[in-house]
Amino acid sequence: MSDFDFDLFVIGGGSGGVRAARMAAQRCARVGLAEVAEMGGTCVNLGCIPKKLYSYAAHFAENFEESHGFGWVGEAPVLNWDTLKSNRAREISRLNGIYVQLLKSSGVHTVNGWACLVDAHTVDVGGKHYTAKNILIATGGKPSIPEFPGSEHVISSNEMFDLSPFPKRLLVVGGGYIACEFASIFNGLGSDVTQLYRGHQVLRGFDEEVRTFIAGEMVKSGVALHLNTDVASIERTREGLQVRLLDGSHITVDSVLYATGRVPLVEGLGLDAAGVRQAKSGAVEVNEQYQTSVPSIYAVGDVTARVQLTPVALAEAMVVVDVLFGPPAGKKPRGMRYDFIPTAVFTHPNIGTVGYTEEEASEKFGKISVYKSDFKALKHTLSGSTERTLMKLIVEDATDRVVGLHMVGADAGEIVQGFAVAMKAGATKAVFDSTIGIHPTMAEEFVTMREAVKR
Ligand code: FAD
Ligand code: NDP
Repeated sequence: MSDFDFDLFVIGGGSGGVRAARMAAQRCARVGLAEVAEMGGTCVNLGCIPKKLYSYAAHFAENFEESHGFGWVGEAPVLNWDTLKSNRAREISRLNGIYVQLLKSSGVHTVNGWACLVDAHTVDVGGKHYTAKNILIATGGKPSIPEFPGSEHVISSNEMFDLSPFPKRLLVVGGGYIACEFASIFNGLGSDVTQLYRGHQVLRGFDEEVRTFIAGEMVKSGVALHLNTDVASIERTREGLQVRLLDGSHITVDSVLYATGRVPLVEGLGLDAAGVRQAKSGAVEVNEQYQTSVPSIYAVGDVTARVQLTPVALAEAMVVVDVLFGPPAGKKPRGMRYDFIPTAVFTHPNIGTVGYTEEEASEKFGKISVYKSDFKALKHTLSGSTERTLMKLIVEDATDRVVGLHMVGADAGEIVQGFAVAMKAGATKAVFDSTIGIHPTMAEEFVTMREAVKR
């Protein structure tokens, strides 16, 4: 028995922390975990889950409208925002309870409170010291909002879920995941949504055609998108929040959501005391095994500011557990690769993507072929909706390997997940071509694109 209280002490009960703690405990390690808020972290409480529930709620608006073309008659129901909020809160509490239970049944000792590193093997929580052979930092991130005249009037995604009253006029600032998702969601729920983005097109880093296509679809669905502009100042007036833009124009809204990125949550964590090295952004620096500059301290997830996605934090946590306690019997230690990470943006319609954009692929592989299909889904032949679907495949000519797959359309996230497995396995265009489609679906289009539109 070692002299430490624990073999592993985890700071943060979010996606990465809970996964690491549970898996380590299942390998018979003595594990402690400190969480200052509700168990489950950003994803469960203020991110993926409540966001997706609200996205489902928002989709009903278009479904009611589209049902008429299929013969349904009658007025569309109206949204009761308070019911949505309380049903969401109830479900999130249920999930919090499940997380607590899972940790308990795995034998993890949980502590409620703010944790701070004292040294390489000691953590302070509310004045009590816990020692551990190894410590894992999994404290996630927090919204980052620039300061400008009137910035005290804006809110982050954290406040959106329980907003009261419902924002009839909403301004969303930013062009990333959160801005685009919340603009779509609140547009669907019934807000008049204006979205401002400082650059030439939303979703920097995504395939250029995907960016243009989703922006077009969002505008068609009712989001007033303004590009190449930004907020100069905000003033509270009797009519609402008066927002002055850089070009001197004004708009008046009920709420302003700033979705301008997230930064690692590192303040008050005692990184200096323990000697943990940070990047300029504040992110905790780690090596390939997620070990920090202090050998006994590891870090995973958003606090390392690599890829800020829940499944990535989970995968990184599993690598750490294998490094510290060995892989499960008969298995090899897990590694983590950052190429071919599939991702979805839950805009209306969704974006699903895996692998390289056309621009990246052309730079990385030289000769590539691009296959593209832009069509009206069968559903919309009767629904009356003008929504279109985009599908795109990028193939490396030298190997015939499909190195990029992109979709904008209903359930794109669901569709792309399966294709991501094939692409991880190195599927070639010939394999796609020899795969039989499922008819009639949208997904079959990915296996029936025959002619390259670009080489
Ligand atoms: P977190 O889940 O943030 O957990 C960190 C935990 O540490 C928190 O519970 C915090 O309270 C606790 N903590 C912090 N400091 C301390 C301390 N000193 N002491 C004790 N406790 C502490 N990802 C997806 O894959 N899909 C999505 O659809 C998606 N949607 C999102 C929507 C929104 C609005 C947001 C904000 C994020 C979304 N994400 C999504 C990203 C995803 O939520 C994060 O990547 C993921 O939660 C990161 O996990 P983590 O373990 O690093 O940190
Ligand atoms: P992103 O980094 O995705 O986007 C931030 C946006 O804000 C960018 O458009 C950026 O512009 C803009 N911006 C940054 N600083 C300023 C500023 N000072 N003034 C004006 N605009 C600014 O961050 P998000 O907050 O949207 O999301 C954080 C992360 O959470 C995402 O990157 C993603 O990893 C994760 N997430 C995942 C989701 C999913 O999987 N579906 C959903 C939601 C979040 P520019 O591009 O010009 O820098």
